[in-house]
Amino acid sequence: MKAHDGMYIDGAWRPAAGADTIAVVDPVDEQVIAHVPAGTAEDIDAAVRAARAALPGWAATPPAERAAVIGALRDVLVARKDEIAETVTAELGSPLPFSQAVHAGVPIAVAGSYAELAASYAFEEQIGNSTVLLEPVGVVGAITPWNYPLHQIVAKAAPALAAGCTVVLKPAEDTPLVAQLFAEAAHEAGVPAGVFNLVTGLGPVAGQALAEHEGVDLVSFTGSTAVGKQIGATAGAAVKPVALELGGKSANVILPGADLAKAVAVGVANVMSNSGQTCSAWTRMLVPADRYEEAVELAAAAAAKYGDRIGPVVNAKQRARVRGYIEQGVAEGARLVAGGPEAPREKGYFITPTVFADVRADMTIAQEEIFGPVLSILKYENEDEALAIANGTVYGLAGAVWSDDEDAAVAFASRMHTGQVDINGGRFNPLAPFGGYKQSGVGRELGPHGLGEYLQTKSLQF
Ligand code: NAD
Repeated sequence: MKAHDGMYIDGAWRPAAGADTIAVVDPVDEQVIAHVPAGTAEDIDAAVRAARAALPGWAATPPAERAAVIGALRDVLVARKDEIAETVTAELGSPLPFSQAVHAGVPIAVAGSYAELAASYAFEEQIGNSTVLLEPVGVVGAITPWNYPLHQIVAKAAPALAAGCTVVLKPAEDTPLVAQLFAEAAHEAGVPAGVFNLVTGLGPVAGQALAEHEGVDLVSFTGSTAVGKQIGATAGAAVKPVALELGGKSANVILPGADLAKAVAVGVANVMSNSGQTCSAWTRMLVPADRYEEAVELAAAAAAKYGDRIGPVVNAKQRARVRGYIEQGVAEGARLVAGGPEAPREKGYFITPTVFADVRADMTIAQEEIFGPVLSILKYENEDEALAIANGTVYGLAGAVWSDDEDAAVAFASRMHTGQVDINGGRFNPLAPFGGYKQSGVGRELGPHGLGEYLQTKSLQF
């Protein structure tokens, strides 16, 4: 695959400071498809300087002009959507139709939403004798994971640019090619030099240098809770705002009276989507005791039908991690009703869609994020018990409630400690705030709430 051998800094591709590179691997056949430069603290410093220099001009650009640039960026993404899908398929391994619909489609929708919001957002409000100004936070350090690689870039870069901030992006090492494509798109769309900058590299090197750089005003991080805690601690020590989108272990609560067949089918699809590499996946299905065996049979049959339709997980380390969890589930006494730890193919980082029944709430597979195509089905006797199980992890990112009585579903959702709940399946809304309660994170992405993360408040009294 085509790859740049430099960093996109101050409006141009520049040679990296060091000579080290990162190999990009196709998870389907384990072949190296490209190399990108492994950035160092020196590259990060150059990018942050460029972003600082560009900040006054971009912050002073009228919101309507910023909106036009973001609109142009969206148009370039639309024009290059096949290339986006092919790139994500090559470096993440997801089947092409999924890459087209989701990995290209969702970021285009989100970029479009910010082109509109930048033009319509109230950057100024009047409260009594005060004029309240919402000003850009400044230079944003964006650190993103590989699971929805372009979406997570756009979910940070678009609102940051809309707010008048400038950005330095350090994308995941597994999926740098779509990040390079995004930098090309920003260039083509006329994003001014220094407003968006890209440094590829390893997390503990380039990522850490960005998180610790004193020229960065806000770090927006999506990734694991372990790294998020470190980044939060670094930001705390420097008294800087931070946005953290972390892991999840979301509950899919099927209430008595729900359409079981639909709830189970949609629930299984949600977990297997993107090979289970979705932070908001409903990985714990909660079923009333008297419908439990029926749900288990439906889920096992649905998972078995997936067969080869899902792609691999991203790399060998993730595959080993997911297999380890499956083995641990068996060892702790859960009943395997579909899939298992055996490799379904000789080549590629594939995992067979796996379903566990007889999962107790205190088992490792019911508590920890697996990040693979693995569903745990738990039984409950009454709604209070269902709620205790649903709320009984350190996470609180998403969830679902199914019922034939929408009011009952909403009442249950209001008692869940989680940032987002889909009622009877829900429907993706690119403007709805997305983010976590508890250890799933701090702050919100998408829509006006996502834009608000990149603003700070000043009041003028008259
Ligand atoms: P990760 O935390 O290892 O990596 C995420 C990003 O952080 C990468 O760019 C990586 O290079 C960088 N990084 C790693 N170590 C760093 C350090 N010490 N300092 C600075 N940056 C560092 O996570 P991952 O394995 O790539 O992604 C999977 C995790 O991300 C899962 O736990 C998943 O739930 C979470 N996730 C959360 C969301 C969300 O919106 N809440 C979305 C996607 C993924």
